[in-house]
Amino acid sequence: MAGKIKITKYNEMLVTPDHLGDGAELSPEVGIHEVCFGSISLVDVSETHAALVCDTCGLRVMIPREVNTYGELKGYFIALAMPSGIWVTTEVEEGGQDGG
Ligand SMILES: [Zn+2]
Repeated sequence: MAGKIKITKYNEMLVTPDHLGDGAELSPEVGIHEVCFGSISLVDVSETHAALVCDTCGLRVMIPREVNTYGELKGYFIALAMPSGIWVTTEVEEGGQDGG
């Protein structure tokens, strides 16, 4: 199942491979950077962290090394995007009153 994961606040998207579901372990080539089509690799950079590195544009995004699967990766970036732990989806309509 192909998916997209927003990996920076600048809306950079990681496109995950078609054949790997949420339960699949991250492969060394994690996926494709949507806009530049570069290959995003997973590189261990310290005892605690790894980096998602794009071979084309130089994108480099840190993730904890305890993130092991695509599902965990998705969850990690969703949690990062939450302001103060409150998740607001884009589906919610603005305004509580419609003046009727
Ligand atoms: Zn890139």
